[in-house]
Amino acid sequence: MENYELICPIGKGNFGSISKIRRKSDQKILVWKQLDYSRMSEKEKQQIVSEVNILRELKHPNIVRYYDRIIDKKHATIYIIMEYCEGGDINQLIKQCKKSKEFISEDIIWKIFTQVVLALHACHTKKEGKVLHRDIKASNVFLDADKNVKLGDFGLSKVLSNESNFAYSHVGTPYYMSPEQIDEVRYNEKSDIWSLGCFLYELTTLHPPFEARTQLSLATKIKSGNIEKINQRYSEELWRVITW
Ligand code: ATP
Ligand code: MG
Repeated sequence: MENYELICPIGKGNFGSISKIRRKSDQKILVWKQLDYSRMSEKEKQQIVSEVNILRELKHPNIVRYYDRIIDKKHATIYIIMEYCEGGDINQLIKQCKKSKEFISEDIIWKIFTQVVLALHACHTKKEGKVLHRDIKASNVFLDADKNVKLGDFGLSKVLSNESNFAYSHVGTPYYMSPEQIDEVRYNEKSDIWSLGCFLYELTTLHPPFEARTQLSLATKIKSGNIEKINQRYSEELWRVITW
């Protein structure tokens, strides 16, 4: 803790809050994600530790870099220290575009998409065991100061050992949830690819492909697989990739 200086809070998510910090040794700007473990069971705590260990091994130019973790026993808090992404997240970009009634240009969409594909390819083909992201969504894709795209927040991901091809547990964002997740069938890295397709669609249309007021009607829509065609300003290639 004493090696870092708190600069300011950035935001809150479902699992903790994020702050901008400075590493005293070299003045490098980073962030930490603060997680309160006081109400976690022994099993949940162990899960966090193993998730952090997974993060540590993910080194890729398109993945938010993990640096360190600190456990503050006195306050039952774990701090996960990560790369700071100055350009914010893609959800913010989508909101801005909606507000100003603009579309994201096709070349920017391809750029975001290809870099997230590179990041996912790296985790899905990891030698020590596949890593699934499980929570791909616009607010977990970031831009750094040089507008490089970085996939972040592997908080819910889990290593799949090489012996088992499938993971069982049921997590993820409802909008991007794949048909097999709805049925609670075992699923694999293809579920991440489904979410990636939903994300790509949202980049073109500024809203998710499947929308509904209740979980049940959302599930029905997802399983139907019917999506409205994207604006004709975009190429047929882009549409084809989405439908894949
Ligand atoms: P979830 O808990 O499901 O991931 P979330 O993505 O909205 O939800 P957080 O991941 O906690 O929540 O992020 C909270 C805020 O902090 C968001 O506005 C996000 O853009 C920002 N943020 C998260 N990680 C970084 C980072 N590495 N660099 C810069 N900003 C970040
Ligand atoms: Mg997040």
